[in-house]
Amino acid sequence: MTAEPRHPLYPHLFAPLDLGFCTLPNRVLMGSMHTGLEDRARDFAKLAAYFSERAQGGVGLMVTGGFSPNIRGWLKPFSGTLSMRWQVRRHRQVTSAVHANDARLCLQILHAGRYGYHPLQVAPTALKAPINPFSPKALTTRGVERQIAAFVRAAQLAREAGYDGVEVMGSEGYLLNQFTAPRTNRRADAWGGDATNRMRFAVEIVRQIREACGPDFILIYRLSMIDLVDGGLTWDEVVQQARAVEAAGASLINTGVGWHESRVPTIATSVPRAAFSDITARLRPHVALPLVATNRINTPDVAERILAGGDVDMVSMARPFLADPQWVAKARTSRADEINTCIACNQACLDHVFQNRRATCLVNPRACHETELVYTKSDTPRRIAVVGAGVAGLACATVAAQRGHRVTLFEASGAIGGQFNLARRIPGKEEFNETLRYYSRRIELDGVDLRLNAHADAAALRGFDAVVLATGVLPRAANFPGHDDPRVLRYDDVLAGRVEVGPRVAIVGAGGIGYDVAEYLAHSGVSPALDAASWRREWGVDPGYRDVRGGLIEPESPPAARRIWLLQRTQGRPGARLGKTTGWIHRASLKSRGVIALGGVQYLGLDTAGFHLSINGESQTLDVDHVVVCAGQESNNPLETSLRAAGYAVHVIGGADVAVELDAKRAIAQGSRLAACL
Ligand code: FAD
Ligand code: NAP
Ligand code: SF4
Repeated sequence: MTAEPRHPLYPHLFAPLDLGFCTLPNRVLMGSMHTGLEDRARDFAKLAAYFSERAQGGVGLMVTGGFSPNIRGWLKPFSGTLSMRWQVRRHRQVTSAVHANDARLCLQILHAGRYGYHPLQVAPTALKAPINPFSPKALTTRGVERQIAAFVRAAQLAREAGYDGVEVMGSEGYLLNQFTAPRTNRRADAWGGDATNRMRFAVEIVRQIREACGPDFILIYRLSMIDLVDGGLTWDEVVQQARAVEAAGASLINTGVGWHESRVPTIATSVPRAAFSDITARLRPHVALPLVATNRINTPDVAERILAGGDVDMVSMARPFLADPQWVAKARTSRADEINTCIACNQACLDHVFQNRRATCLVNPRACHETELVYTKSDTPRRIAVVGAGVAGLACATVAAQRGHRVTLFEASGAIGGQFNLARRIPGKEEFNETLRYYSRRIELDGVDLRLNAHADAAALRGFDAVVLATGVLPRAANFPGHDDPRVLRYDDVLAGRVEVGPRVAIVGAGGIGYDVAEYLAHSGVSPALDAASWRREWGVDPGYRDVRGGLIEPESPPAARRIWLLQRTQGRPGARLGKTTGWIHRASLKSRGVIALGGVQYLGLDTAGFHLSINGESQTLDVDHVVVCAGQESNNPLETSLRAAGYAVHVIGGADVAVELDAKRAIAQGSRLAACL
């Protein structure tokens, strides 16, 4: 057999990896991600379609979302479990679909321990997790043995179901991690005490799975490389654990970073790319097993750079495969510019899972809906005008063109993107540039006739079979006394750099945009998302990480560029409606920059003495240079009525349709769904 030539752009990414009993075609692992399709038998056909599409896209090895080995290990009541033989059949649908595409799939076995959102949860010690209202029962010695047996049984059933292996979830603060860390393991028996005893549970699980499932079964151990909690492991204990699981029979060591209760963000968009890969690389001298780096790896260039360093053997990406199932195929054929890059927003994946909704993806609404949202070629290609190249219009135009329609896209400004052009300027939201790069390329590939600087009106839209209005939103003006003072600024003028902002600023409106504008105004210099060292200082991640448990040090408050007050009329804590899994990061980032966020504010007016407020009935005057208004949006839809009256076939999407609670997730999904049935 002749060896494949080295890939010209990504030689390390596309080098095969020999595991002894099987060879993986490339160095990409699709990491475990809960989709919400794991929990009910009736969703397994959809789960099979989801994995099948990613297998077709050329991923070397994939891992399912977590399945519990028993009901004690549930993430939530009735979440996906593999503990009975009768459950095997439904899994075969998934494994057959993957094998039909020559790919490999491992089942992740995840025991939630004290993170289980139910009253049956167990843990090494009866210590409640700060992020869970339920308290765990401490496992008895017999109970510990029963959990190990359940892991082994789940692995055997996985083998029967056709999985190529299992991943044992040993990180993120779940049960195995709860055993390994003194934070949560206060036992005095053989399963607690010194590091050897604490890691015995994990090591026994690996050892017994290997013994039960044989040598030709992939066994990935997800090792918490840095716990990012007080009372986590030291680096030396991580090394000790890695050696022990290697000796016990693991085939690969995958990386886990941080516990769910950690105060450090680990995967949000403001976390620098590949922020933790160097920690995985530090394990290289200590074990011979292939090592897998993870977290905030989303482009082929980043993946190649990590692998080229020589200390890491694979990269794991999870969300990037929601965003683009063809990620590997596009990189392999040197079409990285066609990849729909994950922007790490969490809005449609993790946020959905935490709300008990099916996961999908902000930039790819087909994710986890592969059988339901299908972009088939149209039998009757039509001439379609799309007005507005914000993300709603971009999604609609490109999907419609991909389906064979002849699409003209009118954009009044000189660039595509609409509000995304403002979002991408926020420090920590640099990834939003990727979405605009993706759509630019799609416009070329799909042959969309893009007309920039073209403000469409009824005359321009004559002769089309259908007109899609995606004219977006306009900022809502505030109406407090003095709102027309030149010191009152619109957020779009601020973010577009059309106005100078002084050193003392009040922001009216503490929604998503108010928070983003505060970030923009509070930062100076390079965004921490682009500078891993300053990001680590800001969040208190120990750059030396050796003896300090969990790798935490005191965070350093970054210098604030301005004095900022962020205000809302609603009583209570501002920022409560920000993203489920990211809101806390925005709140913490602004707090560390000294931004004062206030609820229960009445705006009495702006005059020469300052900005007069009543805060929960108490008067206060802020001495500010400017007031920036971030008071929500209103639909910009001036064309619909006249076009309908003139008999045009009109559709309205995105902010032009409904401005309330508009976000890019809804805009892209609405545009794509409309285009799928035009
Ligand atoms: P718009 O983006 O408003 O686009 C409308 C387009 O139509 C514009 O380009 C406009 O020039 C054009 N247009 C208008 N009239 C005409 C005409 N007659 N002819 C031709 N063209 C016309 N959302 C999220 O989901 N997550 C975030 O993290 C996030 N962050 C944000 C941060 C900021 C600072 C801002 C401002 C917004 C953010 N958003 C975020 C919101 C998100 O960007 C918007 O919801 C989304 O872009 C709306 O898309 P749209 O296509 O409906 O409208
Ligand atoms: P928003 O979230 O609805 O917030 C609007 C803010 O303006 C609220 O704080 C509201 O609070 C205030 N407000 C409303 N009417 C006002 C008035 N007449 N006078 C003074 N204040 C008023 O809207 P947004 O911040 O403009 O964001 C728009 C959308 O973009 C959001 O739906 C969001 O999903 C999306 N977005 C998301 C993110 C993200 O990180 N996920 C980031 C940015 C934007 P009070 O009524 O209490 O004063
Ligand atoms: Fe990535 Fe956002 Fe899509 Fe989740 S929703 S996969 S974070 S782009």
